[in-house]
Amino acid sequence: MWSKEICKQIHLSSHKDSTFSTYTSARLIKKNLDRNGLIYELAEGFSKKRHMLKGKAQTANTKKIFEKKKIAVIGAGITGCTLAYKLAQRGHTVDLYDQNEEVCTGASGNSVLITYPRLSAFDSPYARFCIHSFLFASSFYDRLKTNAWQKSGVFLMNHDNSSLKRQNSLLNANPENLFKELSREEASKRAGLELNNGGIFFDKGGFIEPKSLCLDLLRLKNINLILSSKIKDINTDGDNPKIVIKGKISKYNEVCLCTGHTSEDLLRLPGLSSKRGQISYVDSSKDFENLNFPICASGYFSPMVNGSHVLGSSYSDIKNNIVLEEEHVDNKKKLKAIHDFNVDILDGNVGFRAVTKDRMPLIGIKKGIYINTGHGSRGSTSSPICAEIIADLIDSRTLPVDTEVAIALDVNRFT
Ligand SMILES: Cc1cc2nc3c(=O)[nH]c(=O)nc-3n(C[C@H](O)[C@H](O)[C@H](O)COP(=O)(O)OP(=O)(O)OC[C@H]3O[C@@H](n4cnc5c(N)ncnc54)[C@H](O)[C@@H]3O)c2cc1C
Repeated sequence: MWSKEICKQIHLSSHKDSTFSTYTSARLIKKNLDRNGLIYELAEGFSKKRHMLKGKAQTANTKKIFEKKKIAVIGAGITGCTLAYKLAQRGHTVDLYDQNEEVCTGASGNSVLITYPRLSAFDSPYARFCIHSFLFASSFYDRLKTNAWQKSGVFLMNHDNSSLKRQNSLLNANPENLFKELSREEASKRAGLELNNGGIFFDKGGFIEPKSLCLDLLRLKNINLILSSKIKDINTDGDNPKIVIKGKISKYNEVCLCTGHTSEDLLRLPGLSSKRGQISYVDSSKDFENLNFPICASGYFSPMVNGSHVLGSSYSDIKNNIVLEEEHVDNKKKLKAIHDFNVDILDGNVGFRAVTKDRMPLIGIKKGIYINTGHGSRGSTSSPICAEIIADLIDSRTLPVDTEVAIALDVNRFT
């Protein structure tokens, strides 16, 4: 690791108070440190090592103080609330706008969102993003210490030959020990419900209650939530972007769009489209009231939250937002793969996912505006890492993903 290229980069990235240490004291490493402006001293080693190295950079650079900015975030779904929180945590002042009277009225309006990753048996930017966004989300929600996150684990059941085949190839890869195989018996015992098949279990997965989680995020005092305010236009001429609400113009250092599937109303975003989805709220029953974690197959079934279970979800091109009986029937069919019980549907909720052709979000800068949309069917998994990426772009910091992943997410990739 301590190659001359890395030492050079460490020197470039250091300020005069930066320090380093390493358990190693090999001659080659000392040579590379010496030649790249990193001074060191020998210190007592630990365990069986006699020596270790510790030192600092020879540089006049001083620690960069990040400029505190005034930032507008448009859209108060899970994506916009997560971003507002990240920015506010870094000391920026955030005005978070939504056209509706409450937070989480768009795609984030379901009572429950399941947090688990898509998986691929082969390495690719897509596969790396799926894994990292999932691990990032799980630890982000853990650190919030909110009751709106249940780290219950998530069970992905194999429900037909093709899902069984796929899971077998995933088990051979199993990146980062992300999941474990469970037999039907073991899965049923853990779930507290007799299941139709075995599958794989993500113990870092779980589910969020988006609205109460977002309200927890928005408690930071430098977030100003402005509801019932539809942004009509964003003007990026001149130095600072300006937004127009009810004919009034407000000026910001930065503007971020987290407007889900309607983002194109404000800015043309090639590659973005929308897909309707309906969930069904199922009355709880003795048969499944003790379900311990979400079960996902072709659809999903959640543990009980506020007296009902979420059964999801349809995926259609219908454009209206009316709860449809035919989509409840569709959801019930998906449930049959999990367990053959009858359910009473109480109600439903319709949302529109912002989707892209390659199932990666659209992240980055376009026409001077930060874009954070296209979270498709996995917004609770992808929003936290994408918020971190946007915050790092704004602060000119190193991104939390590798360059190939950043390119694969780039908002301009379909242009
Ligand atoms: C049926 C269904 C089931 C799903 N299940 C899951 C699941 O189990 N797990 C999971 O992770 N994901 C799931 N998803 C996907 C998830 O819901 C989305 O990925 C996520 O909610 C997207 O959040 P968002 O904040 O980007 O968009 P949205 O929640 O749609 O938020 C966009 C916000 O922008 C506001 N807005 C738009 N235009 C303007 C404007 N001009 N001015 C002011 N405000 C504006 C809207 O009012 C809205 O509040 C599901 C989606 C659906 C539809």
